[in-house]
Amino acid sequence: MFRRDTNAAVVLAFWLATWSLANCQQSSDVDSVSASSQMKVAKTNLLRAAFTVVDVHTHFFVKGKHNAELLKDYVAMMDRNNIAVCVSLDATLLKRVDEHCDFLWSEYRDRFVVFANIDFQGNGEADEPATWSCNQVDFVRNIIEQLKICRGKGQISGLKFFKDFGLRYRNGDGSLIAMDDPRWDPIWVICGELGLPVIMHTADPGAFFEPVTPANERFFELSVHPNWSFAAAEFPSRKELHEARNRIIAKHPKTTFIAAHFGNDAENLAELDGWMQSYPNLVVEFASRINELGRQPYTARRFFEKYQDRILFGTDGPWPEARLRLYWRFLESWDEYFEYSEKQPRPQGDWQIYGLGLPPTILEKIYHGNAIRVIPGVREKVAKFQKASLEK
Ligand SMILES: [Zn+2]
Repeated sequence: MFRRDTNAAVVLAFWLATWSLANCQQSSDVDSVSASSQMKVAKTNLLRAAFTVVDVHTHFFVKGKHNAELLKDYVAMMDRNNIAVCVSLDATLLKRVDEHCDFLWSEYRDRFVVFANIDFQGNGEADEPATWSCNQVDFVRNIIEQLKICRGKGQISGLKFFKDFGLRYRNGDGSLIAMDDPRWDPIWVICGELGLPVIMHTADPGAFFEPVTPANERFFELSVHPNWSFAAAEFPSRKELHEARNRIIAKHPKTTFIAAHFGNDAENLAELDGWMQSYPNLVVEFASRINELGRQPYTARRFFEKYQDRILFGTDGPWPEARLRLYWRFLESWDEYFEYSEKQPRPQGDWQIYGLGLPPTILEKIYHGNAIRVIPGVREKVAKFQKASLEK
């Protein structure tokens, strides 16, 4: 046992050192298989997507912090890679809607649509949940009014819920709020009435709910980010969170729900398949989950074939261009055993992935066809982008 712990500590120390080194460098060597592998296989270097892309999961405030230079460079990168539209999920109601829309739209009105999100804490004290906005009597009424106003002004195309919903937002007495508390029902209803899809990040990968030991398949990453672990008894189980989300979806069939990150169940596509069958108003997107899908290429390909009309393209960006190109490679190529990230050490599991080799008819739906149908405002922007591309 002593030896094992010592080894783990040494490996972790080495890994932490290389992690910080790798994060300072912009590695572009995404084509090489791991250093120790002698395997020589075909490499497809895709510089742009085969069809116009709509990226339904990006964060230009949470990650981009409204950096104008980053935005300009990103739009140039979108042009190079055939990305027509990004959906930014960072317009916080009563706080950052105008600012977020102004930031994205002052120069690039045709390239972005915006989802609102909700500040549950508001101006309340962090350690006094009774003071949080979500525990005040007018909270839901205010949210509904804001959703109507922002939708009326053409500012928002949907509503986003972060994983804190179920894991960190609290009732006045300090207990965790239940995702399917009937208090929130009017929000799900109004989103259906206004034609706003609801994108929800619920729970997290299975490994994040398991003890952080060397036996955990995401041990290194959880060691670097201890706050990503929900293994402690204070948190609900992943199953409970999934079930609470599913009860909301079942109760509100007229509202479209987008389960972010493949419902955080990309490791178990048989279970996700069951949810897809049960809830016709459920669609999924696979931001930051090509690591999971690409390690089960046969199962994932069958899933993409079966649900080709209900899968949206998402990345959780803005990411470096090298990362985006791995998404094209994952979806379009038959390449074997390649990195899912430009970062070393591997940031989401120490394994490599395989391409799905999807046919053009499915690619077109996943890249933009489904997003056009599900998200208001996207159709017009994609049409403009395609027209401009033809004229070039
Ligand atoms: Zn995200």
